[in-house]
Amino acid sequence: FDPWNDPAAKPLIEFDHVTKRFADSVAVDDLSLGIYTREFFALLGPSGCGKSTLLRMLAGFEEPTSGDIRLGGKSLKGVPPYRRPLNMMFQSYALFPHMSVEKNVAFGLKQDGMARSEIDARVDEMLKLVKLEPFRRRKPSQLSGGQQQRVALARSLAKRPKVLLLDEPLGALDKKLREETQFELMDLQQELGLTFVIVTHDQEEAMTMADRMAVMRAGRICQVAPPAVVYEAPTSRYVADFVGNVSLIEAEVESVAGGLAVLRSASGRIETETTVPLSPGQTVAFAIRPEKVRLSRRAPEAGAANTLTGTVWDIGYLGDVTLFNIKLTDGTLVRSTVINAARVASEQIAWEEEVTLSFARDAGVVLAE
Ligand code: ATP
Repeated sequence: FDPWNDPAAKPLIEFDHVTKRFADSVAVDDLSLGIYTREFFALLGPSGCGKSTLLRMLAGFEEPTSGDIRLGGKSLKGVPPYRRPLNMMFQSYALFPHMSVEKNVAFGLKQDGMARSEIDARVDEMLKLVKLEPFRRRKPSQLSGGQQQRVALARSLAKRPKVLLLDEPLGALDKKLREETQFELMDLQQELGLTFVIVTHDQEEAMTMADRMAVMRAGRICQVAPPAVVYEAPTSRYVADFVGNVSLIEAEVESVAGGLAVLRSASGRIETETTVPLSPGQTVAFAIRPEKVRLSRRAPEAGAANTLTGTVWDIGYLGDVTLFNIKLTDGTLVRSTVINAARVASEQIAWEEEVTLSFARDAGVVLAE
């Protein structure tokens, strides 16, 4: 499934130059975006960047100030929320406290006037789906946070919407349960063949679950791509820094030829492959992920394209990896992670030690923005 590489594929959901203005602010700023059928799509960004507003406009709780939103090619202008073939699940779950689990799940179906026997069958199916059958007669207050979240999910899915919108759905869960639930959500989305649009400020969550993600800032989209592309080929400092750990080394372009750039930084020369158009003299940042930086105390490995020297500033043991912060000669900090299982005992690197960092020509990216 790779619709974004298929030029003939039409998005199911289209935001077409959508702007949303509130009295004193622009929450969404001339934003265009396509989301495809069966896609697990994540809107990622810091608090206040407009991601919830975007989702609320899609659900019909807010109208765009200008621009259009289409579903299956049809404009949603003026279509009330309950007539849209989508459902929204809120962070607060919004469960009815006085109703049992099964009544909560049945609520929307009853309102739609579905026949009793059909409702019962659908509720059974939903409770089975989210593994809550044993709890069907309990009230929400008698359930754990994770169980409440699953009730909300069952209720959102009961009407069989085409699209499920999830606004920070896992925000109330602890880390372990969050991680479990992420995989459950992914399985469920696969099983039901639905389109999921999730809003989150947690980059790990977006990376784990999404087929594609949009990184947002101040009402605009900075980059839309599958998580691995966003991580490995960010197009701006902002995205590089927001998604995952990164070291940014300020530099000036010395020369460019045949997809290879030579950069000059205060701490040394960097040779790097590049796909962005650059010109000599331009100021850029060289961005590199910690796992791409090799650390050694001896002379650098023969053949390493790039070497920089520095001093060990911090060491953080994280169980699976150890994180080193290395201070380069000009004071720039560069992170390097070493997998503990692959760590050689004789190579225990200590605080304040002089070390060599080395990395390949394709280890990082040049960012002009
Ligand atoms: P969070 O993760 O904190 O929910 P967000 O990225 O979802 O943030 P939005 O809730 O979409 O951000 O808000 C975007 C901007 O629009 C913010 O500056 C917010 O204050 C503003 N805003 C949102 N709703 C309203 C409203 N009803 N009236 C006025 N301003 C609003």
